[in-house]
Formats: sequence, C-alpha cells, structure tokens
Amino acid sequence: MPDFELPDLVTRILDRLDAADDTMRQLAHPERVIEAAVPLRRDSGELEMHPAWRVQFNTTLGPAKGGIRFHPGVSAEEVTQLAFWMTIKCALMELPFGGGKGGVCIDPKDLSPLEVERLSRGYVRAIADVIGPDQDIPAPDVNTNPRIMGWMADEYSQIARANTPAAMTGKPVCLGGSEGRAEATGQGALIALQQWVKRQDRDPKEITVAVQGFGSAGGQFAKLADEAGFKVVAVSDSKTAIHDADGLDPGAIYACKQAEASSEGVVYCASSVKDQDGGEEIGQDELLSLDVDVLALAAMENAVTKDNVGDVKAPLILEIANGPVTPEADATLKDNGQVVLPDILANAGGVTVSYYEWIQGRTGDRWTADHVSDRLQSRMERIANAVYDRASEDNVPVREAAYALAIERIVGAVSARGDRSFYAR
Ligand code: GLU
Repeated sequence: MPDFELPDLVTRILDRLDAADDTMRQLAHPERVIEAAVPLRRDSGELEMHPAWRVQFNTTLGPAKGGIRFHPGVSAEEVTQLAFWMTIKCALMELPFGGGKGGVCIDPKDLSPLEVERLSRGYVRAIADVIGPDQDIPAPDVNTNPRIMGWMADEYSQIARANTPAAMTGKPVCLGGSEGRAEATGQGALIALQQWVKRQDRDPKEITVAVQGFGSAGGQFAKLADEAGFKVVAVSDSKTAIHDADGLDPGAIYACKQAEASSEGVVYCASSVKDQDGGEEIGQDELLSLDVDVLALAAMENAVTKDNVGDVKAPLILEIANGPVTPEADATLKDNGQVVLPDILANAGGVTVSYYEWIQGRTGDRWTADHVSDRLQSRMERIANAVYDRASEDNVPVREAAYALAIERIVGAVSARGDRSFYAR
C-alpha cells in the first residue's frame, strides 16, 4: 500500500465525533490500489512502459469518482492523496460518490497526438476491470481534457461491448458529455468566492485578483471573474506570468487558447498567456507575492509551502488546484489571519457537473447549458454558505468547517451500515 497519513485535521474532527471509530479505521488506508505498467507504442515504433495507478480510496457514499492525470510527478502516494481529497470533496458536495483518482507518470507534452491517444486507450485497458458506472467513474484532471476523455470513453465502451457513457465524465458534448462541464471548475470557484465576498459586504469591482495557472480551471475562472466585475491584475501559466495593475483581459487570453485547442490534431496548447497584448511580464514567483485582495491558486499542489508562505500578502487565498497550500503553510496563513477557501469546496464545481453528466449518461436525458449552470449555482451557493456558517459558528478556519461537514456525512453512512456501537451492545 502507498504511504498515506490521515491529516491531523481529520483525526481531530473524528476524535470529537461519537461513533467515529470505524470511519477512522476505514479512512486510514485506500480501499483499493491498482498499479499497472501502461504500454505506449511511440511513432518511431519503439515500445515504452509507463507506471500508472488507479486508487479507489473510499466508496462508503457511492462508486469511486475522480480524475486521471498525466504528469511526470505522478506517484502511488500522490494519487492516493488526491483520491482521499476526492472522497472528502464528494461527501461535502452531497454527491452519491466515494473518492478515486488515477494517473500515469509521463510528460504528455512530449508526445504526438496519436501517441497521447494510444497512451489514453492503454491506460483504460489496464484499469477496465475495476471501473464502470457503478464502480468507479474517471474524469479529467491535470493534462487530461475532453478529447482524451472521449478516447477513454470510446475504449471503455469497446471493451464493455456496449455504449457506456456513464463510465467516464468530462467527455466532448457530442460523445455524451455535459454542457457546462468545461466551465464547471472555474464557475464553481467563482461562486465560492462571490458568496464569501457577499458576506463581507464588498463590491467585486474593488477586489483585485491574481491567478496562478491558466489551464481549464484557472483560465475559465479568470475569464468568469473578470466578467463578474473582479479586477484580474495578474495571471500565469507554466511558461511565464503577466501583470497589469489596471486589469488584464483574461477572456481574450482564454479565447486564444480555446481557438488553438479546438483546431484539428492539437491535444495541448503551445500558446502562453504572454502571447496576448497587454500586461508586463513578471516572474512566476512574483505573482504569489503581489499585493492583491485574492490569490487564486490553480496550478499544482504544494504551490505555497513553509518556504514561500511569508511572501504571500493576499488576505484571501482561493484554492482552485487540489492541495496548493501545504498543511504547514496553511497553519501560518491562519496565524496571520489570512483566509483560505479550501480546494474541496472551491474546485468542487468540476465533479458536481461530472455528477450531472453521469446522471445524463445513465438516463439518456440531455440538459441545456442553462439548466446545468442553474443547478450548479444553487448547489454551490447552498454548500458554500453552509460551510461559511459552520466556520463562524465553530470559530474555525473554512477548511476545518468544510472537512467537518464532509466527515460527519461519511460517519453517518458508516454508522447506518452498522458499526461498533451497534454490534457491541
Ligand atoms: N479532477 C477534478 C477534481 O479534482 C474533477 C473530478 C471529476 O470530475 O470526477 O475534482
């Protein structure tokens, strides 16, 4: 089993709850870890094998749910950690899912489109026995996108010998994907931010935002935040960062990336945020230390650590990536009075619309973009406010309030199935 340690925060919450003993034991390990070597036939004819994993961390509340990433940093430990976070996120959002995650250790940006297709299909063949609409439903994550999810869904349907759209989410709309899934993570993050700002009685027009990461989550968030009246003054991607104190035009930058992404034969965009006019180029680290009202972290985990947390000046941090603030850095931010809107809430729009896609895949119904957006809006508003209320009632950080609500739901389901307090009467 990969190394996994239940975060102190979770142990503390479980310690306070009655009947949490069984849950504590169940959450201490992933339920299932699949490790595979995925074959990749390169265009040169050479065969490579790449390590890959699928982790089903916990299925108390339903089938495992979570994305697949292609990244050179992927390891059994990382996938397990991410699958744990999915468990908590799905519970918080009241979705009928447990948590899972998958990944292949590879840099996909070095591959041709046909090589990415072969890799994607090979990964599905490696895990096909353990996934499916009632077992485990993969989705996009870092470096996986609708095009890749379409190949994966197709491969799974071929193996299952049945069109099985509910086995995979984040597909292109023409292959049974949902309207609104591509925007969902950014939209959800914006709603979590707007609800917070509303409670502080602040006007978005006076709020400056810096966004680290301009992929499908960060790029969409920057565009939507700008449209909602926030002043987006800096954005960055894996190549560089740009800054303009008078505000950038993230919609134009995003449109440029979208145009490239929709052209034939492109799996990953080569363009950068600096290819647009406007904004002065700054260092990527400099973006983290800008004097802004909101720092949105939409790149990778561990962006803010104990080493650079002292540079972060923003009073509000929005976690759009999974795990961008380490626990040590989180404690420092708390001591400094800086507020963190945590990943399990702020990026939960993606998996929420994946849930809507799964429903549509199972029923054959097709929802309009407005219907998806309205449902996401009301669920995110309701849950964000429940989290913020809980944080002020208990006088705890927002992350702790979100974890408490999620864990109470898991404990409730474990107890209802029968736990020690039931059997040892
Ligand atoms: N990878 C996304 C996440 O971390 C989406 C997962 C999903 O849609 O199942 O939440």
